[in-house]
Amino acid sequence: MASIFSKIITGEIPSYKVAEDAHNFAFLDINPIARGHVLAVPKTETDYLFDIADDRLSDLILFSKRVAKAIKKAIPCKRIGIATVGLEVPHAHIHLIPINGIYDIDFNRPKLKLSPEEFREIAENIVQNL
Ligand code: 5GP
Repeated sequence: MASIFSKIITGEIPSYKVAEDAHNFAFLDINPIARGHVLAVPKTETDYLFDIADDRLSDLILFSKRVAKAIKKAIPCKRIGIATVGLEVPHAHIHLIPINGIYDIDFNRPKLKLSPEEFREIAENIVQNL
C-alpha cells in the first residue's frame, strides 16, 4: 500500500507543496514544531533513509540544501536544522526546521496550530525564495 507521503506526492492527499524535482518532493509538515517546518521526501518509497541508493540519497541532500536556503530566506532564523526520525511514517524523509537554538528542534514541544491561510502564506514565501 502506498505511504501517506506517496499519496501526497501524487496529489491524492493535499499538501502545502514548496518544491519538487525529478526525484524529490517537499511540503510543509502538517504538525510543525516551527513555522517553516518542511519535509523533503524522495519520490521512490524507501522506509529507512540509509537504505536509499547513494545517488538518490545525494539527490535528496542536494534538493534539501536548495529548499533549506529558500526556507532560511523566508523565515527569520539562525539556521535550518535537519533531523531524520522516521518512526511515524515509513517513507524516508528529512525534516528541515528553522531554528534559533537547540531548543527549537525538540519534537516533544507542542505542535504549532496554524490556519490554512498561515500554511499557504508560509509555503508561498518559501516558493518565492527558491
Ligand atoms: P517521523 O516519521 O519523522 O517520526 O514523523 C513524520 C512527520 O510527518 C511528522 O512530523 C508528522 O507531523 C508529518 N506528517 C504525518 N502525516 C502527515 C500528513 O498527512 N501531511 C503532512 N504534511 N505531514 C504529515
